[in-house]
Amino acid sequence: MRDIQKKDPFPYGDALCVPLEEVTEYRQTSGTTGQPVYQPDTWQDWEWWAECWAYLLWAQGYRPKDRVFIPFGYNVFVAFWAGHYGAEKLGCEVVPGGVLDTKARILKIQELGATALMGTPTYILGMADTAKNQMGIDPAELTINKITCAGEPGAGIPSTKKRIETAWNAKVYDHAGATEIGAWSYECSHQPAGLHVNEAFFLVEIEDIDTGEIITEPGRRGKMIITALDRMAQPCVRFDSKDIIEWAPDSCSCGRTFRVLKGGVVGRADDITKVKGVLLAPSAIEEVVRSINGLGDEFEVIVEKAGDAEKITLKVELMTDSIDQRQSIESQLIDQLRIKTNLRYDLKFFDYGTLPRYEVKAKRFKDMRKK
Ligand SMILES: [Zn+2]
Repeated sequence: MRDIQKKDPFPYGDALCVPLEEVTEYRQTSGTTGQPVYQPDTWQDWEWWAECWAYLLWAQGYRPKDRVFIPFGYNVFVAFWAGHYGAEKLGCEVVPGGVLDTKARILKIQELGATALMGTPTYILGMADTAKNQMGIDPAELTINKITCAGEPGAGIPSTKKRIETAWNAKVYDHAGATEIGAWSYECSHQPAGLHVNEAFFLVEIEDIDTGEIITEPGRRGKMIITALDRMAQPCVRFDSKDIIEWAPDSCSCGRTFRVLKGGVVGRADDITKVKGVLLAPSAIEEVVRSINGLGDEFEVIVEKAGDAEKITLKVELMTDSIDQRQSIESQLIDQLRIKTNLRYDLKFFDYGTLPRYEVKAKRFKDMRKK
């Protein structure tokens, strides 16, 4: 994509499938490394985005009576722009929390009695932490009853989802989408431990990573190959998203016939890495850390070379009221990490509040081996 976009017309190159004057929206990917991919949309595409989001919000129980607070820095990234327009399309009342800081956002939610919230899992957890520990406001006593999480896998990781639901006393629903693709999936209000494919707008195929064979049966993982059916300006056709997914065996109890992906997006082909010869998905460590009472939400994983061998350091925070249970917490952590990831870790305990906090997307996994 980056090579194609070096050609004329600037900045989309010959990936652009409509005359430039029909483009009404500019976005770009938030890709973690290097040059972003530019994404044009026509007005028809933008209405399509809103319709895709309207499907997902309706499935998550959003209705016209909802007052939706969006604590999002409105900018070149598409993320919750489309959530904003989708919620408006449903008839919800939308409160844009753009330039406010976290404290002001919490006060605005309290003042207006907002009922729904959208954000990355990292930010929504961070908001709860700020409310509780810096403002003396218990987020569970605010009026938020549902939260749509996107941008990171957290809401699909059971222990992270549980932490957010407890903190806010609200239902948490996962959504996976991408700038180049669109809002292609959502968790419905029945919480089927997975994501519905938004099949009105997208064709999803699963490809075996080694053989390229298309997987149709449940229970076999592969990477997602996706086609957006109605997008015009820069459509993705059989796009290799690098998301690792598998079909669920059963249809969802909500009655929708759109197929379900078991566990949602279970990893990224790029993130799954071999350490000490074992395949490691960072989400597996998150699931363990956040399933243990007495540990804070934050953690950090560092993989580095130690002579000819490799070493994994896991930094966690011990909650202040759990300091006297450190030994039992440490042994639970060691056991669960061995069971879930088959690896040994150097554990480092820190006081609550000392590891880095992240505003939007977190960078908790650091692979230092290539440096
Ligand atoms: Zn469902």
